Amino acid sequence: MRYWIILGRSLRLRCPVCGRGKLFRDWLSMHPNCQHCGAKFEREPGFFLGSIYVNYGLTALVVAIAYPLLMFNRVLSHEALVGVTLAFVVLFPLWFFRYARALWLGFDQYWDPRPGEVGTGKGE
Ligand SMILES: [Zn+2]
Repeated sequence: MRYWIILGRSLRLRCPVCGRGKLFRDWLSMHPNCQHCGAKFEREPGFFLGSIYVNYGLTALVVAIAYPLLMFNRVLSHEALVGVTLAFVVLFPLWFFRYARALWLGFDQYWDPRPGEVGTGKGE
């Protein structure tokens, strides 16, 4: 249950501790702390480097599944498929950047909870 609550908070780009504060100020910049509960988002310098694993991993997984499916079903010509794939691997990580960070934060909260977690039965 706690897993799904934290995952839901991540997918809504909300604080993993309280679920209310927004993670992002605008498209790229994050709030340093939760505006609702005060939880610090970047626990240590370089903390969000781990979100690159999330972003790269999902991008590679989607391409590894979609590319052969589209290629062997001859949905697109080879040139068009390469073009679509190149566009995807550039644009998708840019769009997914915020979600990758939010999922990384949620992952960290799940395994190493900050004190004061609300609504999950832990830290209350
Ligand atoms: Zn919060």
